[in-house]
Amino acid sequence: MSLYQRPAGLNEALGILAEGPWQVMAGGTDLFPARAHAAVWGAPRAADWLDITAIPELRGITRQGDSWRIGAGVTWADLRDAELPVGFDALRESARQVGGRQVQARGTIGGNLCNASPAADGVPPLLVLDAEVELVSLRGNRRLKLSEFIQGNRRTARAADELLVALHVPAGRAACRSVFLKLGARSHLVISIVMVAADAEGRVAVGSCSEVARIWDGSALSPLDDVRGTAAYRHAAAAELIARARSLAA
Ligand SMILES: Cc1cc2nc3c(=O)[nH]c(=O)nc-3n(C[C@H](O)[C@H](O)[C@H](O)COP(=O)(O)OP(=O)(O)OC[C@H]3O[C@@H](n4cnc5c(N)ncnc54)[C@H](O)[C@@H]3O)c2cc1C
Repeated sequence: MSLYQRPAGLNEALGILAEGPWQVMAGGTDLFPARAHAAVWGAPRAADWLDITAIPELRGITRQGDSWRIGAGVTWADLRDAELPVGFDALRESARQVGGRQVQARGTIGGNLCNASPAADGVPPLLVLDAEVELVSLRGNRRLKLSEFIQGNRRTARAADELLVALHVPAGRAACRSVFLKLGARSHLVISIVMVAADAEGRVAVGSCSEVARIWDGSALSPLDDVRGTAAYRHAAAAELIARARSLAA
């Protein structure tokens, strides 16, 4: 039998996490589909559940001095509807295109990053924004660049006793207009084949074209073949999306 806890504060949650293996759960929109597949494929059941949706410290989007803080528990709907500077336009557009309204209402930006899918739509806009992630445990706080946090397909630098509490975006980047373009097999409710974020200063990040979305430095991409598209198709699509995004952001 699995245990379930829904702590009302960050310290309580960190205390529980420090005790041993708990499966952190925010919106559950990545976790539950993955469990359905696991059930079909006979993978082991998950451990006990730590529901983090009642923790106030994970909420809110606020300006703090020379940066913006986005709580890890902020949902796509919160982002989609927030009044934010133009630098967040790419992130807000990605929010509008994640799943449908139901997924946007439940799914969180923190879950998107911690799940670390190569097709996670939040990653390219946050790379262009030069975002840092803030991880907290009873051992202390640490901040990492998003590019250091996501280490591979479904791999992050998060330790088992840590929670991602927030993202931090420099105010300077938030003032620089940005755009987000996503190519899927249809216009909505679709996993990205390629997605691109770009800003008015020429920063470009490309997702779904490598194990980890990354800042594009002008060199050739090396996308993989998968069920959603061949490497050759992705290559051509990425080049087109990069050109369009740069021109729209300029
Ligand atoms: C129908 C459907 C459509 C979708 N469409 C898209 C799409 O278009 N684009 C896209 O990018 N994604 C899409 N997704 C995937 C998913 O909705 C997003 O990745 C979402 O942001 C995940 O957030 P969540 O809060 O639901 O994460 P959860 O499922 O709760 O958690 C995901 C992972 O992150 C960990 N985690 C969550 N929060 C924290 C935290 N604060 N600290 C530490 N670990 C944490 C969990 O332990 C788990 O490993 C879709 C999903 C569905 C079901």
